[in-house]
Amino acid sequence: MRWAQLTLVEDDPGQFDPKFWLDYFERTKSDAVCLSAGGCVAYYPTGIPFHHRSQWLGDRDPFGELVTGCRKLGMVVIARTDPHATYDDVAQAHPDWIAVGAEGRPRRHWASPEMWVTCALGPYNFEFMTEVKREIMTRYRVDGIFINRWEGSGLCYCEHCRTNFQKSSGHELPRTNDPRDPVKRAYVLWHQQRLFDLWQRWDSEVRKINPDSCVIPNTGGGATSALDMNKIGELAPTLMADRQARRGVATPWSNGKNGKEYRATMGRKPIVGIFSVGVEEPYRWKDSVQNEAEIRLWVADGVANGLRPWFTKFGGVLHDPRWLKPVEELYRRYAAWEPYLRNEAPLARVGLVYSQQTAWFVGNTVEEHTLGWYQALIEARIPFEMVHDRRLGADQLRPFKTLILPNITALSHEQCRQLSDFVGGGGSVIATHETSLRDEWGERRTNFGLAELFGVNFAGRTEGRMQNAYLRLEHEAARSHPLLRGLEEAPRIIHGVARVDVAPRGKFPRAPLTLIPSYPDLPMEKVYPRVPKTDVAQVFCRELARGRVLYFPWDIDRTFWEVLCTDHGRLMQNAVEWATNEEPLVRVSGAGTLDVTLWRQKRSWTVHLVNLTNPMMMKGPIRELIPVGSQRVEVRLPEGAKARRVRLLAADASPKIQREGSLLKLTVPSILDHEIVAIDL
Ligand SMILES: [Zn+2]
Repeated sequence: MRWAQLTLVEDDPGQFDPKFWLDYFERTKSDAVCLSAGGCVAYYPTGIPFHHRSQWLGDRDPFGELVTGCRKLGMVVIARTDPHATYDDVAQAHPDWIAVGAEGRPRRHWASPEMWVTCALGPYNFEFMTEVKREIMTRYRVDGIFINRWEGSGLCYCEHCRTNFQKSSGHELPRTNDPRDPVKRAYVLWHQQRLFDLWQRWDSEVRKINPDSCVIPNTGGGATSALDMNKIGELAPTLMADRQARRGVATPWSNGKNGKEYRATMGRKPIVGIFSVGVEEPYRWKDSVQNEAEIRLWVADGVANGLRPWFTKFGGVLHDPRWLKPVEELYRRYAAWEPYLRNEAPLARVGLVYSQQTAWFVGNTVEEHTLGWYQALIEARIPFEMVHDRRLGADQLRPFKTLILPNITALSHEQCRQLSDFVGGGGSVIATHETSLRDEWGERRTNFGLAELFGVNFAGRTEGRMQNAYLRLEHEAARSHPLLRGLEEAPRIIHGVARVDVAPRGKFPRAPLTLIPSYPDLPMEKVYPRVPKTDVAQVFCRELARGRVLYFPWDIDRTFWEVLCTDHGRLMQNAVEWATNEEPLVRVSGAGTLDVTLWRQKRSWTVHLVNLTNPMMMKGPIRELIPVGSQRVEVRLPEGAKARRVRLLAADASPKIQREGSLLKLTVPSILDHEIVAIDL
């Protein structure tokens, strides 16, 4: 439930104090630990040729000493290895273990120029690192081996990669990044297969020695990650989301997003969120310490989204101790809350689909659309999960009422059929822009794969970069349309930036949104609409026998992420509420921005409220935690369920409860960073 990681540096042996760390693990009530063992540097007296012992090792075994100490504390212990870099002696004896750049030369390490970058897909990993893992497992019988940076450091042109790719695909290695290039496509698939083969080889070798152990590769992520998350979800018994902190304009909810992305394919298997305590920017100040408020909010959003916390510290000697106390306090808090953090299932009714195949084979045309929806759902306080596009079967979609497809362009016939079945079974679908306009390989179709579901055909053209275009809100023709709720005063709002020409397949009621086409935005004298009004619908809403379908033929989500116009946010919230068409399980009202998640445990429900309200929300680091005022919370329990007791865990208080049938109403007076409404059933 609470992970610690100590990544030793080469000069730690003899200098760092293992007792200090064992004491800290105990004080933080950490129940699992990841400790540096081998690979790039061995921290135990290895017997494997070319396995580089720390130059400061002497006759010590700091890894073994820490393992023994952690076991005495009753901790789960996993060993960390890192295979991505090696030394001159290896390069001389085994030149084919070294990665080769596009120009044909072996690659020096970019940050430690005395070292070499290794090839991930050849004998260095398949043979040498397998031996290292066997040795670690035989000597220490750890519970698992964690492998950092094992996927390679960019495309390798070594003799093994050349020959193996040629044998498998008949092609020379690609020299392009164009996702539509057939050789590049073949490489994407071969590269994945090779890594999955490597993972399975390592895993089966360590399990031969300790059947209760496993290999845990540091891998995975969202739409833009390289390895198929669906396959990862089948292979991995547990997984660590390695997004250590915010950088640049990352939002504090990004950590929760990692949790949702991993859970989409890991299901109920435990997932862990690695956080660093430092400033995480491209300049890699790995020995830095971040301020307390930033650390707390980052971790809180991960925990609220089902991640088990894992702090990582690089180096056994502390250059700056300021992080120790905040992390200790956080961990002790989570230890006290533990029964309520042992989640059985999220109770979200909305699923936001992500598509690796679109990112692999079309290019990264998806992520900004996803981020737009993510932000809109956070602002609307609607609990939601993320859904992998290769997991659209009826069983997998059972928890959901509404699925959102944010410009998921690449979808197979089978996936389109699954989505239609979902709607046929009472589910609802919201889709945007070019969703389903390509097949699973990114090849353009003549019509949407989902044309029948949307009720519209592709009319042959996407208009890119629209300047100064608007939407007319048809209050008269579409009177009191739920999509226009909250926009009653607005005759028109801004359009997006790209739109798809479509033609309705049948009759639709009058659309609530119609197109006002672009008109000049300069000189100012020329800025007047040439066409004040059209009948070109910019949203298509269908009420079918059971489910509902809503299609925006434009990039509302991507534009929202870029511009954050509140009118678009309002439309998106209205779209989800209209499509979902049921009383929500949780409703939270009050001022501020909260990430709201809802979970079921064995004998309780929990509502997590993470307070993201902060002037630094869209670019860190947060200066201070700023409490929000009172929040009205309504929770709809299952019919017949009785709430035995309700607690506010952070406030350590019992709120006054108002009951109306299965509806519980209460007030949370204030939230600093993270409050949990814990309802014992
Ligand atoms: Zn290679």
